Amino acid sequence: MVYPISATKLNAYQRCPYAYFLKYEKRVPVTQGFGSVVLGNALHDALAQCHGTWTNGDRVPDWDWVSGCWSRAAASLGDKLTNKQVREGRSILENYYQKFIATESVFRQPLAVEGKIQATLQFENLEFSVTGRYDRIDYLDDGLELIDYKSTQTATVPEKAEMDVQLGLYGLALEQTYGQSLKYLSLLFLRSGEKVRYRATDRQKRQVLRVLKDLAWQVRHENNAWQAKPGKQCGGCSYSQYCIAVNQTPTPEPIGTKIPSLQLAFSLG
Ligand code: SF4
Repeated sequence: MVYPISATKLNAYQRCPYAYFLKYEKRVPVTQGFGSVVLGNALHDALAQCHGTWTNGDRVPDWDWVSGCWSRAAASLGDKLTNKQVREGRSILENYYQKFIATESVFRQPLAVEGKIQATLQFENLEFSVTGRYDRIDYLDDGLELIDYKSTQTATVPEKAEMDVQLGLYGLALEQTYGQSLKYLSLLFLRSGEKVRYRATDRQKRQVLRVLKDLAWQVRHENNAWQAKPGKQCGGCSYSQYCIAVNQTPTPEPIGTKIPSLQLAFSLG
């Protein structure tokens, strides 16, 4: 049996196994608001073009060339971007250019841009299929640096525990994919031009292996209770109405849309 896992899922499991169970095992739907992500997607696209298609040796591109990447990315979206967003995007990208490209003496091509991380890990006869997305992977002298672009209005960094899971899981997956160790994961805030760099360690990988082992056990023993873990995340939890930890009389759990083949596979353990 193959069980898909990602840093997002693993962090959700660490926060609260019961909320994880409702979301990923039972697939209870939640109603969420959708913010506009079009500008963010266009910026990611322009940066992928910029870093992925510059083939002029080590020479640093000029602003006109980078600006052309933005024009193409924005044009590919037709009228999904407003004129104001097109101007805003160009301004964000120019800020990025001045801070991270114009200041460099060489412009090396990255190992990869806009790709998928894929690897497999085994526990309790359960194969985890690790998946994740990255914006850019750079070669360093002694390993890899994973770059994650952030286009949010505010430069909010995730909690340390969440970054540790991301670093540990990606570290394990990248070793399998590229045979190289992850040295850093960097969050690059496009609007403010801030770069926050996290160092990858063996401790994070060991921690992720422990959490995966625990999750494998929960998945294989279907009658096991996925324990609610109350904490500060409860205020924003979409499943609180079903949760006995925060309700004296919770709403009965809905049936959900769990995939039958997974249920069958679980019972084999
Ligand atoms: S309300 Fe809190 S304890 Fe209950 S499921 Fe949500 S996160 Fe878990």
